[in-house]
Formats: sequence, C-alpha cells, structure tokens
Amino acid sequence: MPQLQTDEIATALRAAYPELGAVREAAGGAPLYLVGGAVRDLLLGRGRAELDLVIVGDAAAMAARLGAEPVEHERFATAKVQLDGLEIDVATARTERYEHPGALPDVAPAETIEADLGRRDFTINAIALPLQGEAEPIDPHDGRADLEAGLLRMLHERSFVDDPTRALRAARYASRFGFELEPETAEAIRVTDLDTISAERRRTELLRLAAEPEAPRGFELLAEWGLVELRGGDVVLAARVAELLGSRLWQDAARRDRALLAAALGPEGAEVDLAAANPQKPSLAVELAGRRDPVELVLARALGAEWLDRYMDEWRAVALEIDGGDLLDAGVPQGHAIGRGLKEALIRKLDGDISGRKQELETALAAARWSGGE
Ligand code: ATP
Repeated sequence: MPQLQTDEIATALRAAYPELGAVREAAGGAPLYLVGGAVRDLLLGRGRAELDLVIVGDAAAMAARLGAEPVEHERFATAKVQLDGLEIDVATARTERYEHPGALPDVAPAETIEADLGRRDFTINAIALPLQGEAEPIDPHDGRADLEAGLLRMLHERSFVDDPTRALRAARYASRFGFELEPETAEAIRVTDLDTISAERRRTELLRLAAEPEAPRGFELLAEWGLVELRGGDVVLAARVAELLGSRLWQDAARRDRALLAAALGPEGAEVDLAAANPQKPSLAVELAGRRDPVELVLARALGAEWLDRYMDEWRAVALEIDGGDLLDAGVPQGHAIGRGLKEALIRKLDGDISGRKQELETALAAARWSGGE
C-alpha cells in the first residue's frame, strides 16, 4: 500500500468529510486535529469513520460554538456533538497517568498534540491530521510505516499493564485488518493480566470485538495469545453463529455481538438442552422455545436444532383469532379458566387440529369449562 501524498490526503479528507469546514471554524483558531480511527481509515483508503477530533484548547467551548448541546464527560474533558447527522467527538488534548495496573487514568491537559498521541494504544491509531494548514500527518510513532507493513505496535512496554483492554482491542484491529503483532507487542500481550480490569470493562471491549465482521478470527487470536479460553476449544460454533445470523431467517433473531460472544466464550448453558430436544409437535416446540433468550435460540440452532427454523419461520407467529373478551362474552367468568381455555386453543391450532374462529372458540370454551370455570 503506497503512502498517500499530502495533497492526496487533503483531497481524501474533503471527500470523506465535507462537513469539516464548519468544524474548523468552531475551533476559534486553536490547533485542531483529526485523530484515531478516522485518520487510520483515511490513510488505508477506507472512507468514512466516526470522527474523533482533538483540540489543543477547550473542547467544551468548541462544542458550544458548534451550536450543539454537548454531552460532557468532565473527567476526560470531551464533548460529543451531532453535526448534520454525523457524530463527532471533540476532546481536549490530554495526557494520562495510570496510578496502578488497570486503573482509570489520571488525566491532565496536554500542551501539544504529540503529547496526546503518546497516550494511545497502537502506532496506527496515534497519527494526527491537522485540520488547519497543510494536511501533513503528525506521526511521531511511525504509525504510517506500520500501516503499510500491516503491524500492530504498542507505543511503550507498559502499555498493556496500564490498560489491558488494549490487548482486547488488538484482537479487534488484527482481525479486522488482517494485521500481525509486532514481536515485542506480541510478547507483551501474552503476559497481559486481564484481571486488573473489571468484568464489565472486559465485557464491553469483548462485545466490540464480537460486533466485528471477522469476530470469530478475533476470538481465535485472543485464545492464541493465551488471554481467553474458547468454548469447546475452538471457534467453530462462533463461525456457525456468524453464518446463521447472515441468513434471512435468523438475521434479526438476536443481537449479533451478544450471540457471538456467547458462542465464543460463554459457558455451555441451557441452549445445549434445547439443541438436544426433539419436539414432536409444533405446540411442544413453542413451549420449549417460546420464553428463551434470543441468544439461546441462535446458539441452539447453531448446535444443530433444525426444528428451530420452523419455529422462527412459522410457529412463533401463530396467534388465535379470539381473545379473552370472547370467552367472557360467552359466559366464562374472569379468572384462570380464561387463560387455560386460550392456551388449549392455541396448542390445538398450532398442532393443526383446529382452524378458524369458530373452532377456536369451541375448543377454548370446552377447556375453560373442563378446568372448572372458576
Ligand atoms: P473503530 O474503527 O473500531 O471505531 P477507533 O480507533 O476509532 O476504532 P475508538 O475506540 O473509537 O477506536 O477510539 C478512538 C481512538 O482513541 C483510538 O484510535 C485510539 O487512538 C484511542 N483509544 C481508544 N481506547 C484506547 C485505549 N484503551 N488506550 C489508548 N488509546 C485508546
């Protein structure tokens, strides 16, 4: 991948983010930079990404000048603004210091963009593009060379000790871009202790990995690096889940990130029972599947429960034409009998024993009376 020249970068920037003109104005003369994934993706020729801006100045004042209601995160002096539907993160340039491994960092304003870049995770994410003057990348850690070589390189040797979420982020970038770990980075990742961060932070980062198109590969990498144990010892189930969620029938069945995370790392759960079941009637299938978490259904299908296809396609949508009001009108008193009557009618309808409003009502009334009509 040949490196882009400055004028090519400026052209690509204008094409990808025409709204940057207004943003530039709002900086009020303070140095303003595009940073992070947007720069990386621009240099990779990947087009638009979320916009992360850093101002060596006051991010909140800039957000206010953009006329947006900023959502301020005091701790990190950042503001989120919407501009023409585009979400922009504006942050005050800052440095970070980690009191202990895995701590949330102590933050201080930085005097230069270079100092801000020094707190970042990988060289490919530590490039800034000035939005005033020449679009000449500021690249103190040689991120462009690593982009060209397809390498993920940490900025300093304590990087993963300070913030172990970076090891999880590495799997995200390595799987997305097909990049390798630079050898010293690989060594540091292998001794990363994920236990110094909370389970919630780990899960948030793992869900971001699980949302990636190449998530199964990402989980495989984490296992190769010794950071996680894969469910069943491989990512076969995760790959099957990814494929399943790409199919018409299953695409909206569950949140992809949750399903892939469970398939890759989750403990074996109730979906194994579901996968082993072999319901002989539609009503039994609905009884088994009806109240399950959507992720369980997806996993059970990926584990081989083919009957779930018909559940998804037909049975789960089966509904009665009658409701409780019809039974009340027919003289069934308020109470459990109504529920029982409707349930019996639904079972018989699902199993093809009855059809139409009249038969539904007869079946429901018979069941309600039989159950005592209380
Ligand atoms: P994506 O393309 O997945 O959105 P991104 O690079 O934009 O990736 P974000 O998580 O949005 O990722 O973070 C934006 C930038 O902030 C990163 O590019 C990186 O420079 C920096 N960053 C984010 N998280 C960390 C971290 N834990 N440690 C150091 N730098 C980080």
